[in-house]
Amino acid sequence: MPHIVVNQNKPRVVVIGAGIGGLTAAALLAHRGYSVLVFDQAIVPGGCASTFKRQGFTFDVGATQVAGLEPGGIHQRIFAELEIDLPEATLCDPACAVYLPGETTPINVWRDPEKWREERQRQFPGSEPFWQLMATLFAASWEFQGRDPVLPPRNLWDLWQLIRAVRLSTFITAPFTFFTVGDALRLCGVGHDQRLRTFLDMQLKLYSQVNAEETALLYAATALSVSQLPQGLYHLQGSMQVLSDRLVTALERDGGRLLMRHTVEYIKVENGQATAVVIRNQKTGEVWTEPADHVVANVTAQNLVQLLGDKVPSGYKQRVEKLPPPSGAFVVYLGVDVSAIPVDCPPHLQFLYDANGPIGENNSLFVSVSHPGDGRAPEGKATIIASSFVDYQQWWQTPDYQALKQKYTADAIARLNKYFYLKPETIIYQEAATPRTFAHYTGRDRGIVGGIGQRIPTFGPFGFANRTPINSLWLVGDSTHPGEGTAGVSYSALTVIRQIEAQA
Ligand SMILES: Cc1cc2nc3c(=O)[nH]c(=O)nc-3n(C[C@H](O)[C@H](O)[C@H](O)COP(=O)(O)OP(=O)(O)OC[C@H]3O[C@@H](n4cnc5c(N)ncnc54)[C@H](O)[C@@H]3O)c2cc1C
Repeated sequence: MPHIVVNQNKPRVVVIGAGIGGLTAAALLAHRGYSVLVFDQAIVPGGCASTFKRQGFTFDVGATQVAGLEPGGIHQRIFAELEIDLPEATLCDPACAVYLPGETTPINVWRDPEKWREERQRQFPGSEPFWQLMATLFAASWEFQGRDPVLPPRNLWDLWQLIRAVRLSTFITAPFTFFTVGDALRLCGVGHDQRLRTFLDMQLKLYSQVNAEETALLYAATALSVSQLPQGLYHLQGSMQVLSDRLVTALERDGGRLLMRHTVEYIKVENGQATAVVIRNQKTGEVWTEPADHVVANVTAQNLVQLLGDKVPSGYKQRVEKLPPPSGAFVVYLGVDVSAIPVDCPPHLQFLYDANGPIGENNSLFVSVSHPGDGRAPEGKATIIASSFVDYQQWWQTPDYQALKQKYTADAIARLNKYFYLKPETIIYQEAATPRTFAHYTGRDRGIVGGIGQRIPTFGPFGFANRTPINSLWLVGDSTHPGEGTAGVSYSALTVIRQIEAQA
């Protein structure tokens, strides 16, 4: 089949994957004058931030809350450049209500910094030096990130972007580069505070994949602070799908094209340069080669290695293979009668789920609840989505997949039932997703989610670069800095398009 003819005078970019990272890169490149073609293997765009509909309910597949919508936030900046409206959204306040084991009153992570200070002082007496340290590091890191550094740098241009983002205030973070949250807790004299540690383990795992002892301090300072003013976490009106839909609108308005149900099977490399991708149309079975001046891969680092086949540089492959085991996710989607939901239920809650589980201590159920009029459920009904991290391997090795899925579903509902009223008469619809489901719908290798983890050897300056060792091949998404989340992958997209432009 002849390749799809796009504007011959503009540099041609092929984007593999229409997740938020790929779509953001694609829309920005199209807006800046590139000829952009996006292929996605799924039926709908959005990847882990897409949705599906069942019996009148709309369920967010993975991501349920969004950072970066405030003025100057990354989504706001990108939507402003694309000249499209930001999705309508409500603030999550508290951002999360965290229930520690055996406790019936939650720790409320309030948006108002003063209210949050009072809450944490009451909950964790003596911990203020730790929180002050986090606030200081966050202020410096946030300013630094706002100047768009390239991390980790891989050539002189990248290094220059990094250097010009540094100010005197940035140096305050330097001595803490090799600190974990556990180190900071000990430094501040609260290393022994088990309640605080459990709270931090639960919250940090959502963002960094690892507990307080392992999470890089500089990463944690940001992850734990973005829920407070002037930043905040938001719940999108309608569904998460609106984020990708708007990016697709901008992409197509600016002449770019998105082809769903097209799987990229292979990236062609000649003389150390990515030159084309091999695509299979899932409907027709047709296979063809699409030439490109740049290839932007919105996939996991593990998927990238597979797409390169024998062209992957051996050092890169080894690095990916040596990464600590990634996580999978198990998610329960419930369509319920509103009588299942307690009055004044916050939009997001977290319960300890598996204190000594297979993927480490203090694994939690993270729960997102729709509210009346937010477009996710018919009147008098609501959605409850509960996710937890799981060891992905057992889902591929189990001799009885359905039995394992049923057991996980029953366990999750039993845990939720301590807070919600979930009975056969209040549960209208239920479905679950496992690593196998994520592998199928998002194409992610073995259904792994959440990026490469924010440990010291894999965060920021030590993580995977957007610039790959192969010329004109770029990696975008949650395997790269600054990590998982729709806001994080949007930063990585912005970095990639700046790098591509700088090369022109
Ligand atoms: C359960 C769960 C809850 C989460 N909660 C939140 C949250 O509340 N807030 C938040 O901000 N983040 C959350 N996240 C994280 C967030 O969803 C992801 O980090 C982010 O959406 C990843 O975006 P991405 O663009 O990197 O990749 P993806 O979303 O994985 O998109 C990649 C796309 O590439 C396509 N693709 C892959 N391989 C190929 C191929 N070979 N050919 C063609 N197409 C291909 C896929 O179909 C997919 O559409 C959550 C994640 C999960 C799993």
